[in-house]
Amino acid sequence: MTFCAQVNAESFNLEYLAPQSSADKQAQQALQSANGLGAISDFINQTFEFDQPINLVVGTEDGPYYDSSDATIAFPYWFYTEVKQRFTKANYGQTGVSVADASLDAMVHTTFHELAHAVIDIHQLPVVGKEEDAADGLASVLMIEFFENGADMAISAADLFDLESENRKVLEDADFWDEHSLNEQRYFSTLCHVYGSNPDAYQDMIKQQIFTAERGELCIEEYQVLAGSWYELLSPMMKQTDE
Ligand SMILES: [Zn+2]
Repeated sequence: MTFCAQVNAESFNLEYLAPQSSADKQAQQALQSANGLGAISDFINQTFEFDQPINLVVGTEDGPYYDSSDATIAFPYWFYTEVKQRFTKANYGQTGVSVADASLDAMVHTTFHELAHAVIDIHQLPVVGKEEDAADGLASVLMIEFFENGADMAISAADLFDLESENRKVLEDADFWDEHSLNEQRYFSTLCHVYGSNPDAYQDMIKQQIFTAERGELCIEEYQVLAGSWYELLSPMMKQTDE
């Protein structure tokens, strides 16, 4: 008889609450698809080991946000529905990326963004500058470095910031004192990360004058610093790979 049962405590737990409407049910089905939140949760568990389990609860009333009192990321179904509607309205399919894929890409970005808040909290990581920008930075780095088409996923997420920025025409004080950078800034920062990670592959951003060649040069440096800084902070909680 042995008592050393293999305890396989997961670092990241994904839970779906019962959908309350047909829209919620559709959102749940989409989020449960092959490249949805299950895959992201598996990736996090295969890659990281945190001091305390982090929970992702899908189907909450409010969110998305990270609640430090119970190390839980609250993620409403309506958030998916709203994002999907936004991409649909913008005819996003014309870009060559389907509305369904773009919506899931944005959900991955959001999950990694909230994961950053969780990891900063649990591991008491130092943050210099806006934590919200740091969280967007981690989302970019995880997608770009660990997913085959991660840079393109990040572009979908950036485009969502661009679409969200169309919500308001006048900038008010509240937009400037908000803890987040402006949606326009989040859009350009994410594209800057993508370009900086692989300038040869994303030359078109300069050709299409999304930003200047001079800014592009800085993006290369900035992305190196960003990815290097996150790697350094995350390395103590990264699992050793078998290779
Ligand atoms: Zn945030």
